[in-house]
Amino acid sequence: MLEKVEEFNMERVIEEFERVTKDAGRIQKETLKKILEDNASAEYLLNLGLNGRTDPESFKAFVPLVTHKDLEPYINRILDGDTSSVLTAKPITAMSLSSGTTQGKQKFVPWNEELFDTTLQIYHTSFAFRNREFPMNNGKALGFVYSSKQFKTEGGVLAGTATTNVFRSPGFRTAMKAIHSPFCSPEEVIFGPDFHQSLYCHLLCGLIFREEVQMVSSTFAHSIVSAFRTFEQVWEELCVDIKEGVLNSKVTVPSVRTAMSKLLKPDPELANLIHNKCMGLSNWYGLIPELFPNVKYVFGIMTGSMEPYLKKLRHYAGELPLLTSDYGSSEGWIATNVKPRVPPELATYTVLPQIGYFEFIPLRELAETNGDGSFLCMDPKPVGLTDVKVGEEYEIVITNPAGLYRYRLGDVVKVMGFHNSSPEVKFVRRSNLLLNINIDKNTEEDLQIAVEAASQLLAEEKLEVIDYTSHIDLSKEPGHYVIFWEISGEASEEVLGGCCNCMDKAFVDAGYTSSRKVNCIAALELRLVRRGTFQKILEHYVELGSAANQFKTPRYVGLTNTRVLQILNENVVKNYLSTAFN
Ligand code: AMP
Repeated sequence: MLEKVEEFNMERVIEEFERVTKDAGRIQKETLKKILEDNASAEYLLNLGLNGRTDPESFKAFVPLVTHKDLEPYINRILDGDTSSVLTAKPITAMSLSSGTTQGKQKFVPWNEELFDTTLQIYHTSFAFRNREFPMNNGKALGFVYSSKQFKTEGGVLAGTATTNVFRSPGFRTAMKAIHSPFCSPEEVIFGPDFHQSLYCHLLCGLIFREEVQMVSSTFAHSIVSAFRTFEQVWEELCVDIKEGVLNSKVTVPSVRTAMSKLLKPDPELANLIHNKCMGLSNWYGLIPELFPNVKYVFGIMTGSMEPYLKKLRHYAGELPLLTSDYGSSEGWIATNVKPRVPPELATYTVLPQIGYFEFIPLRELAETNGDGSFLCMDPKPVGLTDVKVGEEYEIVITNPAGLYRYRLGDVVKVMGFHNSSPEVKFVRRSNLLLNINIDKNTEEDLQIAVEAASQLLAEEKLEVIDYTSHIDLSKEPGHYVIFWEISGEASEEVLGGCCNCMDKAFVDAGYTSSRKVNCIAALELRLVRRGTFQKILEHYVELGSAANQFKTPRYVGLTNTRVLQILNENVVKNYLSTAFN
């Protein structure tokens, strides 16, 4: 049950978490039963012949595993305005637009009040554990949060990103009061239509309330890093605004200007202080605690595709702890971080058994069936939440209260242990294979390892990789891997050539190396792009309706992702071909 705000009690939330995780098997059955009872009249379930059955065995026998593609005909009907009980008994009236940055295509997934309730349950749980370790004392949060556009589809369904749907839920404000310090920024900034202007104002609000800021956060770590990179560029303008008490003219949205004018008063002393602090920093190391002397931690999702940004985040955060938040998706929340002191690289998430029904496809089984570990396999046999094995990798299958039944999310997790009887999982990667030309197979994780290895060479030159992605170029025979890099400054030809060779060697799977040796795969190509290219990619996704704080750089850009590939190729300044196998 959802805690009422006025009754929010940290110890009770923790006790409740202990109770449900101790009895995870039974709670899972109950959760499934409730979902199936509530939606027994949904056309989808009726057509499958479930006929009101609510036990896991019948559920698995009658309801097939599906991917988003399988559900698209149903989802499209809802989007077109079909208000009958298509996927759920109560018609779906809102959709979340998932960032789609992993596969390059945005997806609509059903959103309803029940999903909002599960969101609060996960927020409450992780907050209780976090606050026990790092209590907040009436401070404020500097949150780099941005609401995406919310629009109505032709059929009248409200659509926006999942975070936007959460922010805009009627109960959100009251519910958050109990568990979240107020944001420094007024709502007009959070809901502002222009993300650049909102970011500038977030930074300004943070500085105005610098003494009160106790937490710096965003949904994903990428947005925090990107905010402070922007700070490096605009800090002098921010100081001028504070000194004069007048907002920079580049902020043009009237509602944002009005809201900011209420906060901004001429404060030459503060402007001077910030100016001196910035001048005193060496290469911006420790910027966050320097600007915000009472900040306790930095908070956001920091695992998976966010790991490449941790180095830079640590640089800005100095000695401050980095806390990874929870694990979920537009399709629903999955697990929470109850060990906030563990560094993100080692973090695990405990599955909450009461927020959905979860199944796990053993990855080994997928690999055996398909022979190549690829995404789709004929007849995978998932196991239940309490039947997973420590050390094994699984693909997650979700059944949620918003009309997704046995839905393959496409994420791979590794079971690291159990909290009582509920698994603690580590996020491993998206399950779809990334780079594959011949008999090679390299995942998002392999790419990350290769980029990290090569970026050590750059680090020797005091340079860093700001962002990266990959592509397979089959325009000439044989095909080859292309890695796009945006870096923080000028590197010599020699260093970049070395980086290119290093990446080619760093893909160590036997399929790749043997294909390279016999030239079934041609030399890896490093394409260097102009500064700001990845920002353009983010802007492209924001333009399509994604929220900036939900953005994840796509780590593979295929030919079908025409616009992003075009942005990348238009901005190439130099390219290098590996000589590592010559
Ligand atoms: P979206 O619904 O588009 O915002 O993206 C959801 C996806 O983000 C998930 O399916 C994961 O791949 C990724 N994700 C969410 N939470 C985490 C986390 N804590 N660690 C790593 N990846 C995550």
